[in-house]
Amino acid sequence: METRKVLLSEDEMPRQWYNILADIKMNPPLGPDGNPVGPEALAPVFPMNLIEQEVSTDRWIDIPEEVLSVYTIWRPSPLVRACSLERALETPAKIYYKNESLSPPGSHKPNTAVPQAYYNKAFGIERITTETGAGQWGSALAFACSQFGIECKIFMVRISYDQKPYRKSMMQAWGGKCIASPSTETKAGRDILEKYPDTPGSLGISISEAIEAAVSDESGKTRYSLGSVLNHVMLHQTIIGLEAKKQFKKIGEYPDIIIGCAGGGSNFSGMAFPFVYDKINGKEIEIYPVEPVACPTMTRAPFVYDYGDTAAYTPLLPMYSLGHSFVPPPVHAGGLRYHGMAPTISQLITEGILEPKAVTQLAAFEAGVTVTRTEGIIPAPETNHALAIVIEEANKAKETGEEKVIFFNMSGHGLIDLVSYDKYFSGDLRNYDLSDEELIEAEKVFENYPKPQLLKSR
Ligand SMILES: *Cc1c(COP(=O)(O)O)cnc(C)c1O
Repeated sequence: METRKVLLSEDEMPRQWYNILADIKMNPPLGPDGNPVGPEALAPVFPMNLIEQEVSTDRWIDIPEEVLSVYTIWRPSPLVRACSLERALETPAKIYYKNESLSPPGSHKPNTAVPQAYYNKAFGIERITTETGAGQWGSALAFACSQFGIECKIFMVRISYDQKPYRKSMMQAWGGKCIASPSTETKAGRDILEKYPDTPGSLGISISEAIEAAVSDESGKTRYSLGSVLNHVMLHQTIIGLEAKKQFKKIGEYPDIIIGCAGGGSNFSGMAFPFVYDKINGKEIEIYPVEPVACPTMTRAPFVYDYGDTAAYTPLLPMYSLGHSFVPPPVHAGGLRYHGMAPTISQLITEGILEPKAVTQLAAFEAGVTVTRTEGIIPAPETNHALAIVIEEANKAKETGEEKVIFFNMSGHGLIDLVSYDKYFSGDLRNYDLSDEELIEAEKVFENYPKPQLLKSR
């Protein structure tokens, strides 16, 4: 019998997260006046202990005991050798993945939801608000809040609320309060409903509602939470890559190629940043974040200052962006439809340390089905984008006969996304092409914004 899984015991779980801000230079976030914003500007929105993490440049940050304790519900996650996929592809490459689909909500997202709930609780916060599109993030945060006994209020985009009821059921099961957005609970929601009573909603509207609900609570006991993009979210996710490094060490292997899908960038960063540290220090590794052709942030958009959200509530962030009012085509990978990319990932792309790739929706699902019928796991549509490149690289290795070690992140399972698989099987899924004109139109929003500098970290 061949060995498929490399396991860590609970006491081998890393005790610190890795902070990439210790090793790269970054353009600062800017306020509307074009000047750098200090941490205090974020205080009404996030608790101060998380804001401190957001700006920290310490390389290692201790994981609190209470967070480790919740992590052990599903962590350490196994490093799995995709033996069956290797055989089906007849590749000499060795393919390994971290299985992040084993968390209770079924994705990597609770790796940050749990510490965020913990730090809010520690700061005396009693209620967290957030938005959710297809519901992955909302369900992860509801799970995390239930572990720490705090309330969770989730503004879910109306159309998903109606069309994808099972994520809403999950949020409710964990005690979260899921509200269709736009709602009558906020001014932002009421204004939209007055003008467009039948609107399907959008992520931008939901973010506006969630932030308003947090900052307008006069008790001061409510804060807002974000599931990707920000530095502290990337930080929390590094538990994935840090575990993987220990697991590779156990079997005397090290990856040549690292691949992950990237929406806001959190699962990719979590898996890749601990290895980026080695690459910065001279190791030769190819590292590929993968996005949909229909939302080509890293592969076709410019590196600019732009807002992190459609409503322009956040500071201006230095990132690859399609423009904060860009509305991507309705591809079936809700988690990859963000207009921007995490500033940390964006910086590493400008320096040539990461090489982004894009794949079509049909190529992604074809790869997902190949993995389903070999490895047995039905991957999330987001994950499928990474898998298309994994298979491409494994086929390249077959041509050259090289025994490359390929490492990817199984960011989540697709059991709540089977409607998209149905559409793929019935031939109703299609690819979307974006013309240069469409992209140029969307990018007009930041024409007059300040421009980030091209910084070199070494
Ligand atoms: C949300 C999500 C993603 C994309 O978000 P990132 O912040 O880029 O990680 C990818 N995979 C799954 C399964 C998700 O739920």
